[in-house]
Amino acid sequence: MPDWGDRVDPDFNFLKDSYSAEHDINPYEHDQYSHGIYKNSQPYDGILLSLSNFEKKIRLTNDDHGQLFIKNKPNVKDYLKIPKSSSIAVMGDCGAYSYVAQPEPPEFYSVEHVAEIYSKLKFDLGVSPDHIAIKYFLTKENNKKIYKKVSLKERERRRILTLINSGEFINLVHEKRYKFRPIGVAQGYNPLSYEKSVKTLLSQGYDYIALGALVQYNDKEILKILKRIQPFLNGIDLHLFGVLRPNNIAQFQKLGVTSFDSTSYLRKAWLRSGQNYLASNGKWYSAIRVPYSNNKKLIATAEDHNIPLEQLKTLEINAYNSLMKYVNGTLNLNDTLTNVMAYDRLLIRSSKGEEKLEARYRNTLLDKPWEKCSCEICQENGIDVLIFRGTNRNKRRGFHNIWTFRNSNLEFFKTKADEDNEVLNAEIKT
Ligand SMILES: [Zn+2]
Repeated sequence: MPDWGDRVDPDFNFLKDSYSAEHDINPYEHDQYSHGIYKNSQPYDGILLSLSNFEKKIRLTNDDHGQLFIKNKPNVKDYLKIPKSSSIAVMGDCGAYSYVAQPEPPEFYSVEHVAEIYSKLKFDLGVSPDHIAIKYFLTKENNKKIYKKVSLKERERRRILTLINSGEFINLVHEKRYKFRPIGVAQGYNPLSYEKSVKTLLSQGYDYIALGALVQYNDKEILKILKRIQPFLNGIDLHLFGVLRPNNIAQFQKLGVTSFDSTSYLRKAWLRSGQNYLASNGKWYSAIRVPYSNNKKLIATAEDHNIPLEQLKTLEINAYNSLMKYVNGTLNLNDTLTNVMAYDRLLIRSSKGEEKLEARYRNTLLDKPWEKCSCEICQENGIDVLIFRGTNRNKRRGFHNIWTFRNSNLEFFKTKADEDNEVLNAEIKT
């Protein structure tokens, strides 16, 4: 699981919709990561922390002895609140997308500096500094966002640069006797170039290789690359950066993949789609939108419809309370939906989209998937996990998704995902 600081207030009051007093004093210290909420079973095997976070978001500090600290913690596991007894591993990488538009990786990402950070903060695994051999990247020219094409020659230069780094990196790890396990990055732009990179990394002495720049390829193209390199792997570990392709997990594994990272199932929780909540039988559900009425976009739409703010607030309360009454059995499905839609209608959408959404909400309310989930979040928070409203509900739903993904039967899940994709593709066509 890539870390983007996704935490929730464990004592958030859903009825009053308010944060705990402890959260207000120190949100970082009080709030919990997904692995802190799930105490009985892990939501993932490890966390990927990109050093690019330290360039902008999180300040790295050091003391007189040169020890590094993240938020006063001298160890990355303390910072991520991973208990000593936990088997959750922490992998570090550069987060090379942050400098993809620059010709060279910035000084911060020198081989020496990166290796030093991994070692001082006690990462379990450290990825060699790379430069992504990407086809296109988004950049700004004259204040306009444009996609810039990267020439084949430049992609080859980046591939070679990544291999020079990986060579220096593994030598340094051995020379300084750093304790983290080094992972070498293979960049590429077609099956042959990936094969060449993998062979070089093996000759450099790596027993864990990570394939970069794969996000830009479809499933078929990734399979072609994996088939090409599989004969050379001989049981070494292989990681795929940023790739979660549910339909192909079994096949990826057969071709030698041992790990991957992705925020996809976490983020689906709050993306605009019919797939917000993954049930333990592999079926996806829409979360029911009841956004806070102080949402700026919502206020603007309400003004366009000549709806006064007090009325907007009333519609919000009515929608939320109706869902609570539905759970208690004091309001029927149709009346609940009517009240939900009266508020939902104000979120800009076409009338056709509205119909589709109402059908999806009906499905969610009829099936009550929160009652069937054995995870600690659904057990404790019930229907609130299915309500699209603020960080504490939306992130809990994301946490539930990754927990379900890891703890569900993958074979069954695989066939369900195929069906879901067919439904989704049909929807796109219409
Ligand atoms: Zn759950």
